[in-house]
Amino acid sequence: MKKLLSLLLVLLFLLPVGGAALAESTAAPAKDFVEISDLDGLLAIADDPDGNYLLTADIDMASTIWQPIPFRGTLDGAGHTLYNLQISAVGEDTRVTRDGNLVPYDTVFSGLFSVMENATVRDLHLVGVRMAVDGKEHCFVGMLAGYMYRCNIQGCSVQGQARLTNYAVMSGIGGIVGYGAGDFGYCRADVELVFEDRNLEERCEQFMGGILACGLVNIEDCVVRIQGYDSCHGYVHNGGLVGMYYYCGMDVHSQSVRRNEIYGQITFFEDNPNRRAYCEPTLGEEMSVPGNYYSNEDEFERNEVFEYDKVLKPEPCEEPEYQTTLVAPTCEDWGYAVHECRICGYSWADSYFPPQHTPGEWEIVTPADETHEGLREKHCTVCGELLTRETYTVAPPEPEPTEEIVTVRGADTTEALSVVFRGSAQAKHAEGATGPLTWTSENPDIVSVDPDGTVHGLRHGEATVRYDSQNGLYHGTCRVSVYYSFWQWFLIVFCFGWLWYV
Ligand SMILES: [Zn+2]
Ligand SMILES: [Zn+2]
Repeated sequence: MKKLLSLLLVLLFLLPVGGAALAESTAAPAKDFVEISDLDGLLAIADDPDGNYLLTADIDMASTIWQPIPFRGTLDGAGHTLYNLQISAVGEDTRVTRDGNLVPYDTVFSGLFSVMENATVRDLHLVGVRMAVDGKEHCFVGMLAGYMYRCNIQGCSVQGQARLTNYAVMSGIGGIVGYGAGDFGYCRADVELVFEDRNLEERCEQFMGGILACGLVNIEDCVVRIQGYDSCHGYVHNGGLVGMYYYCGMDVHSQSVRRNEIYGQITFFEDNPNRRAYCEPTLGEEMSVPGNYYSNEDEFERNEVFEYDKVLKPEPCEEPEYQTTLVAPTCEDWGYAVHECRICGYSWADSYFPPQHTPGEWEIVTPADETHEGLREKHCTVCGELLTRETYTVAPPEPEPTEEIVTVRGADTTEALSVVFRGSAQAKHAEGATGPLTWTSENPDIVSVDPDGTVHGLRHGEATVRYDSQNGLYHGTCRVSVYYSFWQWFLIVFCFGWLWYV
């Protein structure tokens, strides 16, 4: 129950992006920013990794297992969220990483981005990340990127789980980035990180940090909540912020680590006769010393155990029994499914669903008449927020295409609303049209339309329904917004929310 509560607290902490973080990125996007509003847009970054991108919507990533891609451009999240991101692969690119003795390793990387160089990422949020990577080769993972060099990350947050199983030597997990150099400002990480070393032949070099596993970076005004689990038969380097703070042979110099907050714990063992067992609230092992290093607050627990034969995991039960509870989204909070073990109380969440208002009916502010436009508004029935305000006319000019807005909030009301639209279409064109009207939907996955004009809302989204007269002279469109009712949402999450359970 305690963990469930902390999960809820974590959600509360994640959702309002810090005002300071928002203030950091007031720069208006330049004209050459490509707008991204869906998964296809994100996938297209792979075609131009040097481009500049602006998110214009929250994007549900649940329908894909993400393949990490390199990135060298600018990504402005504009406060938007990628949610239900699932990653199990590493990217194709390799880079050389170096340990504390500057020994080089050809290394692979995993994260939303595999290798990130000279990139800027700001005001981007990742909610409900689930990473589980097998490190067959030397490997670093981070939810945003596995590797970075000369990158600037401002006002971003990550929340979720990352697991790395090591079969090689050089290996680490960072909450935001795995390995490298750059800047973090006003970032938040709420992460569960699990490292399991299966290489019993060689002593691994293992790194774990709430922000970065290994490297030399500026970290300012960041907040980390970490639950780390680390089973290592080599050398442990664990820190609340950074596992090992070291320039690692990169062309970077003295950096700042200040005004950060760290909460949580790392439970670990270092099965090694030459035991070092670095694990500290901020920087695990300080091979380089930050030039500005102050005002870091923590409530961090170093939890070292000395039994080496039992892999450390957040779920201690051999055979856990999970009970799933659905938390519905509200106007301000995310919905999600939380799975809690009946035996030990450990819980985790998935199937996140964005905050959602409940649109009411149109309210007339200024009535329209035959010669004047009117003004109408739609408010949320729960919180009262103004959702839409638009002008309208009582008699749209004919035969120009008309557009109407229909809100479908569940199968029960679909038929009634479609009848309104169908009726108005037929009435407007009864004189000029000959023969039956033809009905089409631009996106039949969201809204389907029968030959008689009956509209069906199929899933959450928007689509335009169009009618055309047989002689081609008369046509009109209707924008249909489909909102899930709670029970529809419940069914969808309930049916498909288990796919990623590991
Ligand atoms: Zn359990
Ligand atoms: Zn609302």
